[in-house]
Amino acid sequence: PDARAADTRVTPMMEQYIEIKTANPDCLLFYRMGDFYEMFFADAETASRALGIVLTKRGKHQGQDIPMCGVPIERADEYLHRLIALGHRVAVCEQMEDPAEAKKRGGKSVVRRDVVRLVTPGTLTEDTLLDSRRNNFLAAIVRAKPSAGSDEPRFALACLDISTGEFRLTECDRVRLAAEIARIEPGEVIVSDALYEDPDVAPFLRSLPAVTPLGRDVFDGASAERRLTSYFAVATSEAFGSFSRLELTAAAACVTYVERTQLGRRPPLSPPSREALGATLSIDAATRANLELMRTLGGERRGSLVAAIDRTVTAAGSRLLAQRIAAPLTDPAAIAARLDAVEFFTRESILRGVVRDKLAAAPDLARSLARIVLARGGPRDLAAIRDGLAAAADLASRLSGDGLPAELSDAAAALRAPDPALAAMLDAALADELPLQKRDGGFVRAGCEPALDEARALRDESRRVIAALQARYADETGVRALKIRHNNVLGYFVEVTAQNAERLMTPPLNATFIHRQTLAGQVRFTSTELGALEAKIASAADRALGLELEIFDRLAAAVVAASDAVKAAAQALAVVDVAAALAAVAIECRFVRPEVDESSSFCITGGRHPVVEQAIATEGGSFVANDCDLSPASEHGTGRIAVVTGPNMAGKSTYLRQNALIVVLAQAGSFVPAARARIGVVDRLFSRVGAADDLARGRSTFMVEMVETAAILNQASERSLVILDEIGRGTATYDGLSIAWAAVEHLHDRNRCRALFATHFHELTALAKKLDRLFNITVRVKEWHGDVVFLHEVVAGAADRSYGIQVAKLAGLPPAVIERARHVLGVLEAEDRTSPARKLVDDLPLFAPRPAPPKPVADPHAEAVLKRLSEIDPDDMSPREALEALYALKQAA
Ligand code: ADP
Repeated sequence: PDARAADTRVTPMMEQYIEIKTANPDCLLFYRMGDFYEMFFADAETASRALGIVLTKRGKHQGQDIPMCGVPIERADEYLHRLIALGHRVAVCEQMEDPAEAKKRGGKSVVRRDVVRLVTPGTLTEDTLLDSRRNNFLAAIVRAKPSAGSDEPRFALACLDISTGEFRLTECDRVRLAAEIARIEPGEVIVSDALYEDPDVAPFLRSLPAVTPLGRDVFDGASAERRLTSYFAVATSEAFGSFSRLELTAAAACVTYVERTQLGRRPPLSPPSREALGATLSIDAATRANLELMRTLGGERRGSLVAAIDRTVTAAGSRLLAQRIAAPLTDPAAIAARLDAVEFFTRESILRGVVRDKLAAAPDLARSLARIVLARGGPRDLAAIRDGLAAAADLASRLSGDGLPAELSDAAAALRAPDPALAAMLDAALADELPLQKRDGGFVRAGCEPALDEARALRDESRRVIAALQARYADETGVRALKIRHNNVLGYFVEVTAQNAERLMTPPLNATFIHRQTLAGQVRFTSTELGALEAKIASAADRALGLELEIFDRLAAAVVAASDAVKAAAQALAVVDVAAALAAVAIECRFVRPEVDESSSFCITGGRHPVVEQAIATEGGSFVANDCDLSPASEHGTGRIAVVTGPNMAGKSTYLRQNALIVVLAQAGSFVPAARARIGVVDRLFSRVGAADDLARGRSTFMVEMVETAAILNQASERSLVILDEIGRGTATYDGLSIAWAAVEHLHDRNRCRALFATHFHELTALAKKLDRLFNITVRVKEWHGDVVFLHEVVAGAADRSYGIQVAKLAGLPPAVIERARHVLGVLEAEDRTSPARKLVDDLPLFAPRPAPPKPVADPHAEAVLKRLSEIDPDDMSPREALEALYALKQAA
């Protein structure tokens, strides 16, 4: 071979690496080498930067150093977590055989390796990679081909959580799609390459944390049904109910992606279920964020609604509660069913305590089950199934008897369903102390399998024989301190101090002892007898481990076979946990059962803000409860609109939000922080509450506010509840007032929804005279020695002043500035007597007909151009003539 060939020679290992890497180009490749996952080339550079680990070199490729970095396997999860969080995808490549096997094949054989899974943000199962209190959804979005006559594109959305098996489908329009994505907060969204590049949806997709574009085959409608039915091993997708072609395509994309990332394994999924449009209270992304349902505007869970009311004691319960808060219902009967369960536990306080203690001790069944089915489970997952099933059976026995609400008796039935034989089998087989990994062995209980007991006895017996051999060798050599030790390099060996070594190396002892290694203070030997013993021990240990792994597989198979019943039991545990937890918070925080019906009522007596109340309580203060009545004047009339005025800091925002939160809680099936509440079911909840600048997207506060207000005015229905706080603040006073004015009129006359409208434009209160379903309320303050005292009490009427200067004084503005401001205000108020806004109410007719557009004025130039144009016949012209005609036209114009 000439020099060039030598230069490009590739080691067999690199050859294997490159082959595997080429098959997984969009992933970082974790390439298993002994106790490390190694990364090479660009992967190594990316990973070392992302993880802050050392970049080194290993050998050469085509004459260049190969960059390399590695992570130890015992810390791999932690590094994986960080890479995934940064948006990377990782292919995990394992050694598929014992390195000894490869050696036996001889020569240049490398250990066989293969990718065993792809780790992506939406397909995680490890506890260490997941937040136990949140679902981790993978979502697929598909768009229908636009049909003639409709310009609103239809989308289908499929979401599944492979760590719990939940799988849901919806078909919706663009607005609803964005709201759904905001609600579900998927860990990863998959779309077709084409959709990813489509200018209509690209900006929306790019705003999501992790979007993976995939090839057309994944989103192929024609094969969707086949892929789905094959995943679930059913004959037809009608087994799941009736779904549109679009929905099936989205669902099939999800399962195909799961199969790809899990390398063909099929985690247990619930059959897809339809999320009926209108079955849940629709809350758009802005409202969701403003109301701080799941986290605060600052991004923390602490301070959110969920954090304030979550008293669940299991991770699955916490996930279910978050789901319910994210998607409240709209069917009063379904809401009442949930409330019945909560009410039951508020009455049965002893049972509640017992149930919650039992639940607290129960493991996360759903996630352990998913790991076992994916062959990623360990002995402790089997134990979790055993303990979870025991807890389920125990709870089922406690939830019996008459008077049990339907939701709880259904749950009890599901808890009873798994065959007790499974738990008994696990119980009999598993030892008390369990290793993390099955390959560590020792997890099968003694006495469970005779063959295993025998192999273990042999192994332990051999150890005793080693001890006996050590005593005999000490005797024979006269070296009292002789030891038989073990390490991974030499296996078993005889060890003596350097002074004694000489005796073992001279006759007659050198016939027995064979020198292996000399260290600073010790010398190590082996012997034929020791070698034979070692082989025997190793084979007994191997045999024992082999038997244990067989037993593991048998147990895992039994769990997989029962996975539907186990999953249903896991879900039932969560249902019971949520009902008991909501009862606990209701008692602790004095919540009452709301009355939710089909009326248009909205009548809250003594309502409180659940989060602010808790914050104030920890500081020793007390929250002032307030009423809110937007009910129609007559039973079947239309709901009303309240205009809320009052100085800054008086408590307007708190009041607005608390009423929205009470709706969310009530329709989610929770008791509410009030003395009484009657709510006619709300179909959509909208809020525009002091948005911060969305600078990241290049929009000013005012622009954000107008976009959100537009969405509300375009979408709110008679059943909706709208909360508007200070709209029109971000622009010049008259612009702002005019916009706020027109928005209120629109809400009243067109949307006809129930609404709370907080404003600092006192002029708006005059509208109450004109709009019959509009009334004014104000948050009371008291003036005291020139200062303002906030009473936080909402009463009928309008604020007379805004107390801006007093509030500024409270905030610590220098006295000279305050003095000057008082003076300026005096002057302005004197001039304001003639303010044009004051007259608006009397002068402006509601929705005056728009003035007709002005008639176009005849323009001689335009006429000439049009005339020439009409004479031209493009089909009759050469390109040259066309160009000349164009020049002529331009000149005429
Ligand atoms: P505004 O929107 O009128 O400027 P906020 O709603 O932001 O006022 O309330 C200002 C502060 O007043 C809150 O942070 C809260 O601590 C307190 N507050 C508001 N409402 C109440 C209430 N009902 N009872 C007690 N304190 C309240």
